[in-house]
Amino acid sequence: NRGLGSWPARRAAISPDRVALVFGDDSWSYAELRDRITRLAHRLRGIGVGRGDRVAYLGPNHPALVETLFATHLLGAVFVPLNFRLTAAEVRYQLDHSGARVLIRAPECAVVQAPTTIALTDLSGIDGPPLDIDVELDDPAFILYTSGTTGRPKGAVLTHGNVIWNTYNLLVGVDVAGDEVTLIGAPLFHVAALNQCLLPTILKGGRCVIMPSWNPEQALDLIESRRVTWMFGVAAMFAALTQSPRWPHTDLSSLRCVMSGGAAVPPALIRAYQERGLTFCQGYGMTETAPGATFLEARESLDHVGSAGVPVFFTEVRVDGNPGEVLVRGPNVTPGYWNDPAATADAFTDGWLRTGDMASVDAAGHFHILDRLKDMYISGGENVYPAEVEAALFTHPAVAEAAVIGIPDEKWGEVGRAFIVSAAGSPPTAGQLRDHLVERLAKYKIPAQFTFVDDLPRTGSNKVRKADLRKLR
Ligand code: ATP
Ligand code: MG
Repeated sequence: NRGLGSWPARRAAISPDRVALVFGDDSWSYAELRDRITRLAHRLRGIGVGRGDRVAYLGPNHPALVETLFATHLLGAVFVPLNFRLTAAEVRYQLDHSGARVLIRAPECAVVQAPTTIALTDLSGIDGPPLDIDVELDDPAFILYTSGTTGRPKGAVLTHGNVIWNTYNLLVGVDVAGDEVTLIGAPLFHVAALNQCLLPTILKGGRCVIMPSWNPEQALDLIESRRVTWMFGVAAMFAALTQSPRWPHTDLSSLRCVMSGGAAVPPALIRAYQERGLTFCQGYGMTETAPGATFLEARESLDHVGSAGVPVFFTEVRVDGNPGEVLVRGPNVTPGYWNDPAATADAFTDGWLRTGDMASVDAAGHFHILDRLKDMYISGGENVYPAEVEAALFTHPAVAEAAVIGIPDEKWGEVGRAFIVSAAGSPPTAGQLRDHLVERLAKYKIPAQFTFVDDLPRTGSNKVRKADLRKLR
């Protein structure tokens, strides 16, 4: 078995008693994890799961997800983790589209079924010998549905080879060590927690501290009590930590670095972590690239605040123009979307994946992700990248979250409309925000409208759904 399914058993052969997973007060050693995975694989095989079959998981983060993932891969089957925050109809679509034969499901997600449905609380397995089924690097390991930030989620296929190369790329950048304690607070149905946190840590024999769902207070508590050494999060998660009343008092001395990706990070937020003596690395990528495409290494991060770094080691990344669209080619790039040849053909040009993201590359070769091509708008003939405006808004102390979209305007073609969630305390006025921006941004970038809201519509991976904002009046 050349795939991922063999990793826990190999680790268990080296260090059986090391702790692999921590979940609440429970923990699993590598030997226990290996045994549970083998037993579950026998059970799944008993109900007919074989090479190429799809096994879906629907539920919050839980050790059962990890067991299902590796048991599926031991059989050469394809793991399909689903976003439990989707509606029943959306999940139904993904189950049908992926053709899942088995669904492992949390009790609270009981509205959907597959041909065989198993409750994650009933994941007991069947005794049997170690399994050794042929799995090749080109076999699909995952169908991962994209976040759905720009439309209906697309089912990106990732092969075992894609994921293994992504793991190498990450290990080069983060130096994940055998004694790593990785906090997994991001959802494991999303590529980042799965491929940047869980898999590299297991490969190296480290320890994963799994949170059932994201909660900033609990995260700070775990960092301190479990001596977490590194964590991944999107900007919204890192912002929430700094806004917690516990933030100033939490002992962060075990953390050697934190890593952000998946969405733009305002430099002001990065500085808040640097002020606490932490290294803040940043990565840029997408589900389709498994996900790492560019990475800013920890030791370089002080000099390049806000940059998404340079192409990851084994992958080519370039821009088509400067600024221009980011193109990616390499062993971590998806062979295409599941059952969707049209979308696959659309996504590639001459073997390069077109990301739909705009970036500029500076003289040192560092990438600066500007925004999605779809979210950029043109005001008075000038390109405006909402991410830049959002970062400037974020430097105002009374702004907790900000999202900017372009709206039609008779005079300028398009103008900006900012949606603001105010921080605790007295909310800012539109005039105060405008004054704040005037000192920081060219005039054409300053939103014409400010709308105050209680929260922003977000995807399961915590990104702002701009399409929903565009529908608001
Ligand atoms: P969908 O493709 O369904 O619309 P999505 O693109 O948000 O959703 P993901 O694969 O989770 O789905 O996210 C990848 C996207 O996230 C990238 O294409 C890019 O727009 C954004 N992104 C990732 N990393 C960064 C970063 N460091 N800075 C800015 N944007 C980022
Ligand atoms: Mg996308």
